[in-house]
Amino acid sequence: MTAIDEFIKRCEEKSHDKYRLIEDIAYFNQIKVLKAFEKCRVATRHFNGTSGYGYDDEGRDTLGKLYAYSFGADAGIVSPHLVSGTHSLTVALFGLLRPDDTLLCVSGMPYDTIRGVIYGDNNGSLKDFGVNFEYCELKNDKFDFNSIKNKLNNKVKVVYIQRSRGYELRDAFSCEEIGEVCEFVRSLGFEGCIFVDNCYGEFVEKSEPTDVGADIIVGSLIKNAGGGLAPTGGYIVGKQKYIDMIGKRLTAPSIGLEVGSYLGGYQYFYQGLFMAPHIVAQALKTSILIGQAMCDLGFENYPKIDKIPHDITRAIKFDSAENMVNFIREVQYASPVDSYVTCEPWDMPGYDDKIIMAAGTFVSGASIELSADGPVKPPYIAYFQGGLTYEHGKYALERILNKIIKH
Ligand SMILES: *Cc1c(COP(=O)(O)O)cnc(C)c1O
Repeated sequence: MTAIDEFIKRCEEKSHDKYRLIEDIAYFNQIKVLKAFEKCRVATRHFNGTSGYGYDDEGRDTLGKLYAYSFGADAGIVSPHLVSGTHSLTVALFGLLRPDDTLLCVSGMPYDTIRGVIYGDNNGSLKDFGVNFEYCELKNDKFDFNSIKNKLNNKVKVVYIQRSRGYELRDAFSCEEIGEVCEFVRSLGFEGCIFVDNCYGEFVEKSEPTDVGADIIVGSLIKNAGGGLAPTGGYIVGKQKYIDMIGKRLTAPSIGLEVGSYLGGYQYFYQGLFMAPHIVAQALKTSILIGQAMCDLGFENYPKIDKIPHDITRAIKFDSAENMVNFIREVQYASPVDSYVTCEPWDMPGYDDKIIMAAGTFVSGASIELSADGPVKPPYIAYFQGGLTYEHGKYALERILNKIIKH
């Protein structure tokens, strides 16, 4: 055994109890998903595609219900016509909000690509349509109940919560914390929609925000919920009345969710959801292993190694641009696709800074697959996520250690 092999083995031993916990959650969520399949009486015919208007597309309609039931909700939209997480969030917000309404984000500033959707200038943002935006800063990385109380007024129609950290150096919120904030805004008499950006959080815990008081949750299918198989798309699930409003925005006010076809068929969307609890567990174990190793090497990283993760992402702080870039490049070199590519920082649409991104993925850009990215500027933080198999993550770690330690 080389010194690096032994180092990894020690990291795995230290992670054992966390792995057991993650497997227990995966088992719980696998049953939850299977019960939803059973309730929907999923059959082979649901995998068939349709063309044109897609009237009576049973595969599409059942898929929406299947995701909804898996998340403890009553209705849902799951569609390849939702092109990404950002688009899904956009469609949902435009479906729910009207001119002069206020959107109140209680989890600090929302994720980078959502900012332009909410308050971009003359780009067709919510602001351009007269929707107001307010947000509450976090207090020591936790919800600031005082600030929420001060900003909640009767113009607020949507209370927005982002579960994952995005490009911030904070931990994701647990469903317990999300439940507390839901209860708090209801106790203040809020009657509008509690909305959660659920990206990266699906199946990480035994409950979802919809189980603890959220009315609508939204996410991307090329992250957790698509199980690494869904080729594209997003989901929006929650209360029927809100899903109806959003459906009218996804298509058109007069036709709503009666239409929408996809010739490619839906098998991978169904199969991806079936796989998702297991795949998320693989990604979480990978995250724990990398976290332990980076911690033992002295690189600060989040979630802290004694904490249970509430999403699949890990933020790792490097001491130099060189170590950060090397880390990300090794993730790329360890990938099944485009392993020969050397990552370089570039201007990505929707982001302000130059981003370096490793994504040697089967589904283009899928971050449930092993991937890493971050803006190359101090404090040099790489965001690491995904991994369809733990073994792949372990191999990437071995490469990273060889590069960083020997350097
Ligand atoms: C990834 C992500 C999004 C946006 O999803 P895309 O599919 O990249 O558009 C939004 N919010 C959070 C918290 C995310 O992690």
